[in-house]
Amino acid sequence: MTEIEHYTWADKIVDYLRNRNVKKHVVHGMWTPSGYFHIGNARPEIMTPGLAYKAIRDAGLPVEFNFFVDDFDDLDKVPANLNTKDFEEYLGKPLYEVPSPVDGYKSWADFFTSEIREVMHIYDLKPEWYSSYENYQRGVYDEAIVTVLNNWKKARDIIVRITKSQKPENWIPIMPICENCGRSATTVATEWDGQHLRYACIQKRDYATGCNYEGEMKPEKGNSKLPWKIHWPATWHTFSVTFEIGGKDHFSSGGSVETGKVLQKEIFGTEPPVMIGTEFIQIDNKKISGSLGNVISLKQWLGFAEPELLRFLYVSYQPNTVINIDVKSQKFFLLTDRYDEAERCYYGDQSISEKRTEQLKRQYVLSQVSEPPKEAPVQLSYSIAAMIAQMLPNKSVDAIASLLQSMGTIKKKELTEYDMNRLSSRLALAKHWICGYAPDDMKIHLNKEAPASAMTLNDNEKAAVSAIIKDVEKKITEAELQSRIYDVAREHGVEPKRFFQILYQLLISKDSGPRLGPFMLALGKDHIKKILSF
Ligand SMILES: [Zn+2]
Repeated sequence: MTEIEHYTWADKIVDYLRNRNVKKHVVHGMWTPSGYFHIGNARPEIMTPGLAYKAIRDAGLPVEFNFFVDDFDDLDKVPANLNTKDFEEYLGKPLYEVPSPVDGYKSWADFFTSEIREVMHIYDLKPEWYSSYENYQRGVYDEAIVTVLNNWKKARDIIVRITKSQKPENWIPIMPICENCGRSATTVATEWDGQHLRYACIQKRDYATGCNYEGEMKPEKGNSKLPWKIHWPATWHTFSVTFEIGGKDHFSSGGSVETGKVLQKEIFGTEPPVMIGTEFIQIDNKKISGSLGNVISLKQWLGFAEPELLRFLYVSYQPNTVINIDVKSQKFFLLTDRYDEAERCYYGDQSISEKRTEQLKRQYVLSQVSEPPKEAPVQLSYSIAAMIAQMLPNKSVDAIASLLQSMGTIKKKELTEYDMNRLSSRLALAKHWICGYAPDDMKIHLNKEAPASAMTLNDNEKAAVSAIIKDVEKKITEAELQSRIYDVAREHGVEPKRFFQILYQLLISKDSGPRLGPFMLALGKDHIKKILSF
């Protein structure tokens, strides 16, 4: 690194990890597949670890990236859009064993993780994939389980001390899987003799009730599981995790991070990972929620935006800040424009202050899902793409590229195959955004001829409209036309603001719309003449 240190939070993490004496760093993401995975829970569970993984790898440290599906967790709630009755008998059972709500999947967990498995590589997220259920069955947690049981009193005391919770003196922190009903949330371990665990299935939870079975078993090989507060540090210990992320709620005083760190040190005798907490994500100023209908999955994101944009969003905000993603308003362009700016900085086509430029360059690099091209690729701002996709839906990308070059919107002279694919992709994404997300004021319905309101214009205003037609007929760039609109207005004694309004009304019967310079040129002089000559 140069003298400007810590361009991004991910690079700062590398500095924390650098001093740790380990052969290899292990970055860890973990998710319970109880419902849909969306861009909100993607932040702590896979995007933040994925970005940190890349930064660690870039720094030349050996590193691996794991993603754990906590499918040994119980089904404790049925998502709002599914029929609760169909799944009642499975409440309290591991998600791995609950049937899929949709045909064609092995289980509930298989269904709810299928989309992440399908698209994560598109975001350049390629972790080692683990099922907690299978890990327990294979005995991966056996050593941790026996260690906890052999020290159960100490583990119990740590949990009580740090979480300030009430637990009976004889509470053994383990969850035996009832051999009769298959539930673990309803069992209580009553005795550990060093090899066998006695238990009774007698607990009542709000989603499941014990079957009253009493039994004795060996706790290994998936016969029991560790409660969350120990399962987490047991995972850090078992997989030698060096960096872990969690939602900020885990970081409260007495929460699972604080408890987990002490348990790992005092029960397992190993060093806890470096940890950071992440804040939540809002979409259009609202919490992400199934009932509000504003959930956007990683796959849905790819329908209207490039994967790099989501990586960029997460790398450009500190993990501990709330991010609001505007999807259903023009504010969405702020993100796309910021990314384009970072790209220009990376290729040396723009520079701001030295520190800001270096920061944006680094954010750009971490956002990439593949090696960026050697030369600066073509840029088409998302707002122009959204406009063009509506106005010229049937034009080929070649024709659109030539038009945008002639308008001066695209400054690059020779477009490569990469550039053409990029234009084509952005136009398709913007089209999808217009159909599925854009606010009404972004939707353009072109007038075929001047509306009746044109007749109410005064002579000056009419003369200004005629003058602008002449400009459109000339060879002119979008930037020149944009400034000519102001000049023509002033030359005819019309307020520029009023003149813009007149033109929008004539063209699309609205008071505002896309930037007029590029819009009018893209419409073409024949069309302009037809509407504006009245
Ligand atoms: Zn039972």
